[in-house]
Parts: sequence; structure tokens; C-alpha cells
Amino acid sequence: MNSPVRRGTRIAHLGVAVRALPDVLPLYRDVLGLPEVPLDDADGSRIAGLAAGDSLVELLEPAAADSPIAKFVEKRGPGIHHICFYVDDLDGTLAKAKAAGVTLIDEVPRLGAEGKRIAFLHPKSTGGVLIELCEY
Ligand code: ZN
Repeated sequence: MNSPVRRGTRIAHLGVAVRALPDVLPLYRDVLGLPEVPLDDADGSRIAGLAAGDSLVELLEPAAADSPIAKFVEKRGPGIHHICFYVDDLDGTLAKAKAAGVTLIDEVPRLGAEGKRIAFLHPKSTGGVLIELCEY
């Protein structure tokens, strides 16, 4: 059921690939002062969540050698991995993206961490940025 309140597209989180959480967690938590938010591990990654206002920074550490984050770090080194946007209407946004010629990694939304529906857009059709869409 759709909520009658339109919340608008906004950044849900930034996914940052790291080699090891202890390398960078103190920077975000202790130097920048972002409070830690407990998050479940997902997709072969250990995840440290940090609240930055209404958005999160998610530090993604490979927990398995064949995980997407492990491959990313191996190929490109640590750094920003993806941007996740909350959208009001995930199916509608995916349909719009497809109609606009964007390559969808997930043609059909799947369940992400916290049981929310998510889908990824391929970076080759978004100007080089892996974009995750998440339904409120
Ligand atoms: Zn994400």
C-alpha cells in the first residue's frame, strides 16, 4: 500500500568500500563524530553504519573473497562504491530509468538488508556511479 505522504528522493546511504574497518572507522566515528548505527552484514560484507544527519555512511569490508566488495577493492582499491537513494515508488522509478535507456542490474527489485526492496542501476549507464534505489 502506498503511503499518501510523498517523501521525495533523498540519499539513504553512501556505500564506501574499505580493506578493513579498523583502517577507517576511527576517522568517521572519532574524528568526524558520526554516531555508529548497528547494521546487519549483507552480500558478503561486514558493514559499519554511521549516521550523517538523515543519511548513513556504510563502510563495507569484504567478509568473503568472492564478494562484490572484495572484487571492487581488488580491482579499484578502496573508495566510494555506490550511492543509495530512497525513492517513493521503486517500480515506477525503475520503469522510468529503463525507458530512459538506463541499464538495470535488477530488473525486478530484490530484498536488501532490513527487508527493504532495492534495485541497482548499472554504472555504465549512469556516468560511472553505481546507484542503488531503495523503497521507503
Ligand atoms: Zn547500499
